[in-house]
Amino acid sequence: MKVQRALISVSDKTGIVEFATALTGLGIELLSTGGTAQLLANAGLKVTEVADHTGFPEMLDGRVKTLHPRIHGGLLARREVEAHMQALAEHDIPTIDLLVVNLYPFEATVAKAGCTLEDAIENIDIGGPAMVRSAAKNWRGVGVLTDASQYAGVLDELRATGALSDATRFALSVAAFNRISNYDAAISDYLSALNADGTRSEFPAQSNGRFVKIQDLRYGENPHQRAAFYRDLYPAPGSLVSAKQLQGKELSYNNIADGDAAWECVKSFDTGACVIVKHANPCGVALGATPLEAYRKAFATDPTSAFGGIIAFNTPVDAATAEAVSGQFVEVLMAPAFTADALKLLAAKANVRVLEIPLDGVDPKGATAWARGRNLHDVKRVGSGLLIQTADEPESLEGRLKVVTKRAPTAQEMTDLTFAWRVAMYVKSNAIVYCRDGATVGVGAGQMSRVDSTRIARIKAEHAGLTIAGSVVASDAFFPFRDGVDVLAEAGAKAIIQPGGSMRDEEVIAAADEHGLAMVFTGTRHFRH
Ligand code: 5GP
Repeated sequence: MKVQRALISVSDKTGIVEFATALTGLGIELLSTGGTAQLLANAGLKVTEVADHTGFPEMLDGRVKTLHPRIHGGLLARREVEAHMQALAEHDIPTIDLLVVNLYPFEATVAKAGCTLEDAIENIDIGGPAMVRSAAKNWRGVGVLTDASQYAGVLDELRATGALSDATRFALSVAAFNRISNYDAAISDYLSALNADGTRSEFPAQSNGRFVKIQDLRYGENPHQRAAFYRDLYPAPGSLVSAKQLQGKELSYNNIADGDAAWECVKSFDTGACVIVKHANPCGVALGATPLEAYRKAFATDPTSAFGGIIAFNTPVDAATAEAVSGQFVEVLMAPAFTADALKLLAAKANVRVLEIPLDGVDPKGATAWARGRNLHDVKRVGSGLLIQTADEPESLEGRLKVVTKRAPTAQEMTDLTFAWRVAMYVKSNAIVYCRDGATVGVGAGQMSRVDSTRIARIKAEHAGLTIAGSVVASDAFFPFRDGVDVLAEAGAKAIIQPGGSMRDEEVIAAADEHGLAMVFTGTRHFRH
């Protein structure tokens, strides 16, 4: 069906003059609302104002512009139904074959600091979504454009055939329904979080999570599970969903899950670090003056587990580091940037997935989770419901640590303790992390008893040929009994960092004193399940 008439009504006027000029060039007649019509007329285009078309003025500060049967009839009439076309003829309603609308900027308005309820309400578009719905519902007869990114493709097709294919009109209709659905969700999110006194509640009565598909995945956690990868409609900067894959095989479900664990951990450090993850747990974490040094120290923690691991850096990867990493089997390599030489070296290992994730706008010490590039809320699926919580934050320990033993940690021990504490936050509970000289020495993860985690971390260190003597230990939650302290003292550890707060704190502190250990309490816990 040939496109004869287009209605254009846009708030975001990007590219609209060029697009309308091209439509005019194809002999398409233009209808348009006040501001848009003015802009097009100023550009020398022949355009009919909607008010002239309906014979009814725009009114109520623009609240009523296009809400008229002469508009909606022209959009909604089914071209293939004789009675519909007769009704149009009877009432002298021309068809509208192409609708170009983008909505009042509600999302941008409420994102601004100091937005009042009145500002928000005035930015709720009424006539725009109504037209979009009419056109999208009648997709067999009408093409509907809701975003400037669609102009070029539609123009190409119109130039080639003078019409739009069924497939194009259907795809445009789906995009249009998605747009107004997201728009309504933004309005509902904003309003349902408002309290009567003008403050906003963190967990409103209704939550409209919105996600956009990034890609289908070959399979899920296991080959018999189907899966896809989605991102938040408005993702935080510096998160895995904004990764650019520079080379390598397609990402798998497990690559993404493990990659996220590595990335969230490495970007929490404010100096150069390397994190190696296997099965969602860090199996080596280290700081280094260069990425190469950080990698070597992280790898040494557990070379067995690092095989087939995910490796993340928070500083650019250079050739020396790329060469060292290429010496092991690596599934995914992640960094904010790679030097050209590094990429040349990595190209020889074509299967390695290389992800570049810029950290612009991400501050490890940021005051809010958003500033550090984390989403504010953690979501966990349970049955037919969701658990939602604010994300766990790597807190500042300044002024918070309480020495509870007779011996206080040395300066070096204190530095290692704070490093170990940070790493423990990213290890599944029960987490026990032995560290020395800014590197992990043994990691005990995901055990049902804390004392077993303590033993496992020690065994792993021994298997890696590392000695625990002189190391420090972080525990993500308190020691419920003294047994864990006995195990790590016997292994040769010298200092402990833990939240404290157990019924048996006294017994645990006495055990530490008996062994001559230093112990500090953080007062916060970092369970991760
Ligand atoms: P213009 O700048 O052309 O005056 O206005 C364009 C905007 O008006 C578009 O964002 C469009 O969605 C919106 N719009 C079109 N018709 C109506 C209507 O009847 N009521 C309201 N509130 N907005 C409309």
